[in-house]
Amino acid sequence: MDKALTILYAVAVLSLGYPAYTGAEENTGFVNKEKERTKREVQKTLTVTTILENPFTMMRDSQMEGLCIDLLSDLSKSLGFNYTISVVKDGRYGAKDKDGNWNGMIGEIIRKEADLAVATLTITAAREKVLSFTKPFMQTGTGILLRKDATIESSYLFSFLSPFSKETWIGIVIAYLITSLCLFLVGRLSPFEWTEISSEQKQFTFMNSLWFGAGAVTLQGVEPHPKSVSGRIIAVIWWVFSIILLAAYIASFAAFLNSGNEQTPNIQTFEDLVKQRTLEFGTIEGSSTFNYFKNSKNPTSRMIYEYMDKRKDYVMVKSFDEGMRRVKESNYAFLGESFMQDLVVAKHCDLVRAPEVITTRGYGIAASLDSPFIKSLSVAILEQIESGNLDYLLKKWRENTCSMKGSAGWTPVPPQTLGGIFLILGIGLALGVIVSLIELVLKAKCTADQEKKSCCSAFSEELGQRFRTRMANQDNPEKVKP
Ligand code: GLU
Repeated sequence: MDKALTILYAVAVLSLGYPAYTGAEENTGFVNKEKERTKREVQKTLTVTTILENPFTMMRDSQMEGLCIDLLSDLSKSLGFNYTISVVKDGRYGAKDKDGNWNGMIGEIIRKEADLAVATLTITAAREKVLSFTKPFMQTGTGILLRKDATIESSYLFSFLSPFSKETWIGIVIAYLITSLCLFLVGRLSPFEWTEISSEQKQFTFMNSLWFGAGAVTLQGVEPHPKSVSGRIIAVIWWVFSIILLAAYIASFAAFLNSGNEQTPNIQTFEDLVKQRTLEFGTIEGSSTFNYFKNSKNPTSRMIYEYMDKRKDYVMVKSFDEGMRRVKESNYAFLGESFMQDLVVAKHCDLVRAPEVITTRGYGIAASLDSPFIKSLSVAILEQIESGNLDYLLKKWRENTCSMKGSAGWTPVPPQTLGGIFLILGIGLALGVIVSLIELVLKAKCTADQEKKSCCSAFSEELGQRFRTRMANQDNPEKVKP
């Protein structure tokens, strides 16, 4: 009985052309069988639909060429099918119209006018319901394409601040104030800095300390100069800090100016785009990008959709090329697939893609729901990816005219890089103050020996005098004048 069933199954498999795949079978065996099956099934010449999109499908001397054309040719060789290719009649990717009918390449497949769609056709849930997709041959996200000079004036005006991050600038100001305060303290505490309390000859008032610090930053060596060891420790450590900081600033600013970043638009995210009023923005009519914003629940994406929907008569474009042209010629930001935008940015140096990229999707080859080729095509596509052929095709068709001038070439000096000099400054300041206290203790010890007092009381007296005199002088400056 068992034997009879096995024979029956084998006959069924052979007559239906189904793969007789068992667990013991080698992977290559499976692939070969799949190929055989496709060859058997592809009796006729396949009709392929595509869309003109640089560098995927382009017309040159009435011949088609491009990445998708090469991919299709490689797939046909590997699976052994013939094809004829034509450009989609309405020039669209495919979306549902008001009556619920699909247009573009999707419509042509559904109406059986074409067997396959080979293009930068995004795999989406809505499309997957009405036809079959292969595994993706490329991945993409959604980004914003901008013109480099589509920027707000203030970013030019204050670009001298860009070498350091906001945190670093705040750190520098705090370090400057603390150093000036330490210098002022040392100027008061150290008996070698302020020798005669009664004569009010001290040099390091708080204003003088600020002046001394500013002089070091600008390499001007302003007076007064400290005389005590403690004051000199603080001065030297602040000079070292200033020199390293200046070197880092100059190096980073030079790199910034050479990177072309001074022209980077200040729209970094989709939220920035929604908040501004200078640029209009839109995408390709009925594209997967438009439908992404339409279906998204994210508040920013909803705002983008509402903006585009209200102004659809003039912010939407027909093709990627038209979108790119609008970005170049007017105040317009083009929302689209980051993969295509990166290709365009590498070729057109006046364009830039904003850093934020949202969602991940893939481009797949589409066929009708009942198509027998999808599985074989998916396997063949994975083979193309794994063998590195797709990378090769991408390199072949990608034009890198302005690759290194992109926004990724420069970043401000990271705050942690400068962490070491802040630490050394902190240690130096603490050392200076401690040494000034030691100097004062030594002086107090001498006074205690001379006046036969305890060292502690001489120290606290000295300390009190040094700070009380200040108060008294502030109350009545005339009193201390000789
Ligand atoms: N690849 C997209 C599609 O299949 C068109 C381009 C886009 O959405 O930006 O609809």
